[in-house]
Amino acid sequence: MTAIAPGPAELLHRLRARSSSAEQSPITHVERVTARTGRVAEWPAWTGPDVRESFARQGIGAPWEHQAAAATLAWQGSHVVLATGTASGKSLAYQLPALTKLAADPRATVLYLAPTKALAADQLRALSRLGLDGVRPATLDGDTAREEREWVRQHARFVLTNPDMLHHALLPAHSRWATFFRRLSFVVVDECHAYRGVFGSHVAHVLRRLRRTATRYRSSPTFILASATSGDPAGSASRLIGAPVTAVTEDASPRGAVTFALWEPPLLPAEPVEPPTFIPASRSATPQVHSSGPAHDPSRSLDRPSGRDPSHGLDSDLENSPPVRRSALRETADLLTDAVVSGTRTLAFVRSRRGAEVVASIARRSLEEAVPGLGSRVAAYRGGYLREDRRAIERALISGELLGLASTNALELGVDLAGLDAVLICGWPGTRASLWQQAGRAGRAGGEALAVLIARDDPLDTYLVHHPEALFGRPVEATVLDPANPYVLGPQLCCAASEAALTEADLELFGGEAARATVQALVAEGMLRERPSGWYWTERGRPDVDLRGTGGAPVQVVEAATGRLLGTVDQGSSHVMLHAGAVYLHQGVTYVVDDLDLEDAIALVHPEEPDWTTHARDVTDVAVVAVRSYVDAGPVGLFLGEVDVTSQVVSYQRRRLGSGEVIDTRPLDLPARQLRTVAVWFTVSPRALAAAGVEPADFPGALHAAEHAGIGLLPLMATCDRWDIGGLSTANHPDTEAPTVFVYDGHPGGAGFAERAYATATAWLQATREAIASCACEAGCPSCVQSPKCGNGNHPLDKPGAVKVLDTVLAALPRDLPAALPPDLPAALPSE
Ligand SMILES: [Zn+2]
Ligand SMILES: [Zn+2]
Repeated sequence: MTAIAPGPAELLHRLRARSSSAEQSPITHVERVTARTGRVAEWPAWTGPDVRESFARQGIGAPWEHQAAAATLAWQGSHVVLATGTASGKSLAYQLPALTKLAADPRATVLYLAPTKALAADQLRALSRLGLDGVRPATLDGDTAREEREWVRQHARFVLTNPDMLHHALLPAHSRWATFFRRLSFVVVDECHAYRGVFGSHVAHVLRRLRRTATRYRSSPTFILASATSGDPAGSASRLIGAPVTAVTEDASPRGAVTFALWEPPLLPAEPVEPPTFIPASRSATPQVHSSGPAHDPSRSLDRPSGRDPSHGLDSDLENSPPVRRSALRETADLLTDAVVSGTRTLAFVRSRRGAEVVASIARRSLEEAVPGLGSRVAAYRGGYLREDRRAIERALISGELLGLASTNALELGVDLAGLDAVLICGWPGTRASLWQQAGRAGRAGGEALAVLIARDDPLDTYLVHHPEALFGRPVEATVLDPANPYVLGPQLCCAASEAALTEADLELFGGEAARATVQALVAEGMLRERPSGWYWTERGRPDVDLRGTGGAPVQVVEAATGRLLGTVDQGSSHVMLHAGAVYLHQGVTYVVDDLDLEDAIALVHPEEPDWTTHARDVTDVAVVAVRSYVDAGPVGLFLGEVDVTSQVVSYQRRRLGSGEVIDTRPLDLPARQLRTVAVWFTVSPRALAAAGVEPADFPGALHAAEHAGIGLLPLMATCDRWDIGGLSTANHPDTEAPTVFVYDGHPGGAGFAERAYATATAWLQATREAIASCACEAGCPSCVQSPKCGNGNHPLDKPGAVKVLDTVLAALPRDLPAALPPDLPAALPSE
């Protein structure tokens, strides 16, 4: 193996030296990911000669094995998903059969779907570069001008678009697109792991509508899906398109060697007298941090991916309790400083824009103190900068003028920036796909690269830095979606009916029994009308369905004095985040809410920097509506079913910044909210708990702590984050008559997360137990059992008790849980 290039080697040495001086080393693991030489295959015999030549002109002499395997499956008519690493050349796997088909049959067409406009534009450029005659590729999105759309409809044979356009434009106007649909041979679904949760469930039905429309025009396109590596790519892809899909997962592309270190910031001394070594510095360098309390990672409350539950704002909850560990931002800044001192070209990924600025400014200052002039070789980089500025920064980094860059994942997509020596990843980026995408930025030809994952104060981060096998072994997280969600199914069936009357045969495609029941309900509501020939949409216009909606109009946050719209918060979170008196953070600026008008969905705010933060308290009730499936394990029961969650925000606390001291508690007058959703829950008999050594008085704290950690660890199993799910624990629940922990999907009708938790319960609860047990804190901290979104002020919490609860549950549950879930695959289209 090649030796580590001098830069990274020197850096790793420095990090080790630094860590050995600490009482407990922050380096929890070092993994050497060895280089892999690529394995090429012959061009498949069916490859069109012109297609092969155009690839050759691009410098592609032969495909990698996985590309050839996936392409051949598709060519033979099997739906296929290619789930391999970043930069493993997934495009070629679908370009090969698609372009060969277009060349062989001058009438054939191809539809390509990307989750973002940028990706579709990227693919268009790649196709154009191939320079093949007669392909006429074109993008179609919200920005496409009317005349251009007309041209695309009439002439393009390779249409690049997104699920929203398909849903809003192509399918409703299918008769105008009849020729295109009639000749449709392939449908490419790129980055299909992006279709998860409620959005993914909607897209699953859009694709079913597409398949139904194609069938009506007597075509039966083959689906080719590209995915990041994940737990169950074939299962997820099959659910997405509603037909069996074959997975190709063996990556045969070459890869450079990486040394991967896992880093857990050390615990601070037990009496947190503000350590003078860094806190004042942090304040002076980064005044924005001040408002959210010292030495706490402010990144968690910012830069959420759009469409996510913005209740992240609640994160500020813990920013005021005394810090337990050194902040991940601070550690990242120090590592970046070390890297630049050792001459290592390094990129630090930070989750929030503000976090990126903070890391860059701390590193710049430390470097400037060490060697005047060195500070200028570090910069921040984030979305929101002008394109030219971003290009200039990228060039400076590649040329070596800049040695360190602290960036949000704005760099993650699209930009080709390789050749760095080291990558620092501040906090688990959410999925393994993102982790490898970020780590993949490190590595120069012939050299070896270094990547460091720095854990934030979070149970999942804690678990991962102590369980490297979860990062470097087989992936377990799966992309989940739930096409049976009635809140998705109903509107989608209306869309389908408005495109063409639904028939008995269609119901199979849309989910069988669930679809039948939903259609009947829609008939009863007068949305659909039943006739001998099928079910018809009754209204004149089309159903108004937003694929990315999460139920209810979002609440607009408006600055009262200027009328300026600052942003939106989804309804589900508005009571907690935007109640009158709430302190609301927006891009680093602090506002206080004057009034929340639920009727008009508007919150009026004014800028103010009080020296307290606010913490909503809510009262939540869970009522079991129906049990779908359960495991009876003696003293322990494990359940999956529908529940009604009723929650009411009743008051809020004002807490002093810094100390977390409670100033007062103020009542609120907000209506209760109802959520019908899907939950997983377990019960433990009081006798079993007592036998495990949990005193009855400690039941609530033990269960509550187990619930928090369980929610924190679920993203290990399913691509969700803790903001997608909620929980409730109680020492005696009226419906179960036992100590119970509920974990539920935070979206009406469920999004598949609870279902995945149920299906992987043993692994999930085992990981939860490990995360709690391996945290070195005394009585519980944000890295294990505290939750930033607790509606109960993180009280009571019993950390040792939680381990006992989980041990009891795990000991009782059978080793092999029955594969509880039906495969959920509708039969193939009857006419196919
Ligand atoms: Zn802890
Ligand atoms: Zn709680």
